[in-house]
Amino acid sequence: MKINIAIDGPSAAGKSTVAKELAKRLGYTHLDTGSMYRAVAYITKEANIKIDDEEKIVNLINMSNIEISNDNHITVNGKDITEIIRSNEISMAASDVSKLKRVREALVAMQRKIASQKGYILDGRDIGTVVLKDAEVKIYLIASAETRAQRRVLQNKEKGIPYDYEQILEDIKKRDYQDIHRKESPLKKAEDAIELDSSDMTQEEVILEILDIINKRI
Ligand code: C5P
Repeated sequence: MKINIAIDGPSAAGKSTVAKELAKRLGYTHLDTGSMYRAVAYITKEANIKIDDEEKIVNLINMSNIEISNDNHITVNGKDITEIIRSNEISMAASDVSKLKRVREALVAMQRKIASQKGYILDGRDIGTVVLKDAEVKIYLIASAETRAQRRVLQNKEKGIPYDYEQILEDIKKRDYQDIHRKESPLKKAEDAIELDSSDMTQEEVILEILDIINKRI
């Protein structure tokens, strides 16, 4: 029997990487919901719409064909934006558009439709609390802001992307604050979620720990 798994937590906690690897090992499908907020931020900027203009942004979402593949490649009207939406600028803009109630409603509806078949691992901020309240396994993955910034620096180094530790740390803290303090679906641990602090864990340790939790559930 396949179940649904919710992984929530602050930015750069390693949710997506862990979810992707878990999906591979379990034969499940991973949906990176953050990339959907990033896609909306991207089209909003491209259309020169103000980042808080809810009405116009919702219309733009309805007019655009946003598609996300099983391996989280994301296209808008056929254009692949998977890489372009990973920039710092889009990260902050995604956090801004994600405050808007109707934007959230539109994306949550898409996410629920995708996961309705079971066998999905969704990662985000509100999966266990809103999107999949009935997910059989809920994980709340955290790590200190400093650890997360260090990991981002390493990732950037590997990819040859320029980096500035202090700037990355500041952006992470700012995004945490926005995501935790927003009115609509703020980032918080679901009551029935299991919290994992990965600050002193390797990625493999996190994966094995979650696999253990899943195996006990299925
Ligand atoms: O996960 P990622 O860092 O790609 O998400 C970008 C932004 O999208 C987050 O900072 C958050 O504001 C928003 N987000 C959200 N709900 C989700 C996933 C992401 O509000 N389920």
